[in-house]
Amino acid sequence: MIHSLVIPVYNELPGIPALFERVRRLADETERRFGAKLEVVLVDDGSRDGSEAALDALPAKDARFKILHLSRNFGHQVAITAGLEWAAGDTVTVMDADLQDPPETVLELIAKWKEGYEVVYAVRRKREGETAFKLATAKLFYRIIQRITHIDIPLDTGDFRLMDRKAVDAFLQLSERHRFVRGLVSWVGFRQTGVTYDRASRVHGETHYPFKKMLKFALDGITSFSMFPLQIATYVGVLSAVVSFFGICWALYVKFFTDRAVQGWTSLIIVVLFLGGAQLLALGVIGEYLGRTYDETRRRPLYFVGRAIGFERKA
Ligand code: UDP
Ligand code: MG
Repeated sequence: MIHSLVIPVYNELPGIPALFERVRRLADETERRFGAKLEVVLVDDGSRDGSEAALDALPAKDARFKILHLSRNFGHQVAITAGLEWAAGDTVTVMDADLQDPPETVLELIAKWKEGYEVVYAVRRKREGETAFKLATAKLFYRIIQRITHIDIPLDTGDFRLMDRKAVDAFLQLSERHRFVRGLVSWVGFRQTGVTYDRASRVHGETHYPFKKMLKFALDGITSFSMFPLQIATYVGVLSAVVSFFGICWALYVKFFTDRAVQGWTSLIIVVLFLGGAQLLALGVIGEYLGRTYDETRRRPLYFVGRAIGFERKA
């Protein structure tokens, strides 16, 4: 039995020794407790602060560590994907390099997996050392995405989670470029559950998610799983068509049954109202088709099989 640990690393030089020690202890503990091997895949996401060399020194010290260097900085979500692709374990757990996620939690994730769950995510109970702004926007974001998408992304959960081989293989079939990993993992399904943990603050360095990146991340999340923004035009269009209809009736009433109508006003207001409604409606129609085209171009598989009983072929 092999459990893999995927850790994306981007400019984390000061934190690497501590990371190495903690993860090494975790590997020993995994062996002791579960009699299983821990494979550690460190994905260097194009670091430029010397992390590359520091990482390269690790496999010689401990053969359980493996290093994957990406050719440049592709971003957190792509680095995770690369790690999942290269990991060989029966389970793969993704964890940050900055030790905000305590490595010891992995033992709890594995224990849950042993109970039969295929995805075990770590839910943050507390978050230390984050700004009030980050906490508030994160909270808002997870609630919005819960509202407007059909997938069930667990609240207050990052990418710290364990996936069974089956879920990993399913995830790897998703080929979209704007990846919102935590959404995709929820989307593949399988038996999922959570384990709570307290998130520590960063020991070294700064977050790599400044506001601009967080915003892009949020937009990737929403646009990968929701057509709501495209559908806004449809809703507004229908609403405005209905309002226009009554507006036009009213304009005609004023023209024919009262003497308040100014010369040329009726035709003008009818044209404005009619065109406004028609345009928004047409935009909405385009949005609906665009949304579906978008869905198709992602070429996501239609389904994954969780378990199949009584078949010759294996799920
Ligand atoms: N990371 C990465 N590529 C990037 C940015 C970040 O691989 O372009 C890694 C980083 O080294 C860390 C993890 O992704 O292990 C999470 O990043 P960070 O701690 O900055 O995010 P936060 O915890 O503040 O959300
Ligand atoms: Mg962090």
